Amino acid sequence: MDYEQVIAKIYEEVKPFWGQGKVADYIPALAEVNPRQYGIAVQTLKGDTYQVGDAGTRFSIQSISKVFTLAMVTRHLGDEIWKSVGREPSGNPFNSLVQLEHEQGIPRNPFINAGALVVTDRLISLYDRPKDAILEFVRGICGNDDIYYDKHIAQSEREHADRNLALAYFMKSFGNIKNDVETLVDVYCHQCAIAMNCIDLARAFLFLTDRGLNPYQQEQILTVSQAKRLGALMLTCGFYDESGDFAFRAGMPGKSGVGGGVVAYIPGNLSIAVWSPELNQHGNSLIGMETLERFTTDINNSIF
Ligand code: GLN
Repeated sequence: MDYEQVIAKIYEEVKPFWGQGKVADYIPALAEVNPRQYGIAVQTLKGDTYQVGDAGTRFSIQSISKVFTLAMVTRHLGDEIWKSVGREPSGNPFNSLVQLEHEQGIPRNPFINAGALVVTDRLISLYDRPKDAILEFVRGICGNDDIYYDKHIAQSEREHADRNLALAYFMKSFGNIKNDVETLVDVYCHQCAIAMNCIDLARAFLFLTDRGLNPYQQEQILTVSQAKRLGALMLTCGFYDESGDFAFRAGMPGKSGVGGGVVAYIPGNLSIAVWSPELNQHGNSLIGMETLERFTTDINNSIF
């Protein structure tokens, strides 16, 4: 399969979609990003990398970080985490408060903000220096030591974190947050502000593509069963209230972020990261969704 040619063709076809979406502006630093950027990177398990457009430009990974923190917590706590977070699609926006009261402070899944806050809270209990631990984990899985927090974005998000603070305090009232809420939201804003490019991100998902094995450190990060579960969660919950539609269109597990990044993979085969900052009304990259639908269609391969 000539992936170079496949992504070059899709890039030309989808580029005209620029202008149909809108850059996230509820975090002011994200609104400063030039909307007309678009990159694609494909990483195969065999070790080949293919790229087109702005695949080497760093951006804020935002909610894609929720996959990394969940993988870290799963390694330490195993099934214990499922006492505090559910595993069902929410059908609601990523920052919604409404279900939490009905469901006694137990978030629907780990990929909406409430669920990710619980996961990060457990990381704070596990590590003395959680921010360092997150960076070290991400560097290890993508084989690149040059991964950092974008301090400007972290600070901007921290200054506009009222809704995430509200979610965390609300869950704390149900006993589902153990640590200081201000500390929690600070760590959470940092994980969202990790700056990576499409190539780093496609590589960071290789351990999931290879059933839990990190190819860069030859280390089993998750068991085969844990990797299966993480993939299943991404397929059902990775795109908030557009998760069903993404599964329908692209047929792969994946995760998006409001920075405009989308990563997805076909187990045993390849991972693909797309970035374009303009979002659709669900907070997912409009061009990213379109690209991944065309990718699995054009290569005649998906998980189904
Ligand atoms: N940092 C963002 C927030 O908490 C992450 C949301 C997202 O990427 N969907 O609002």
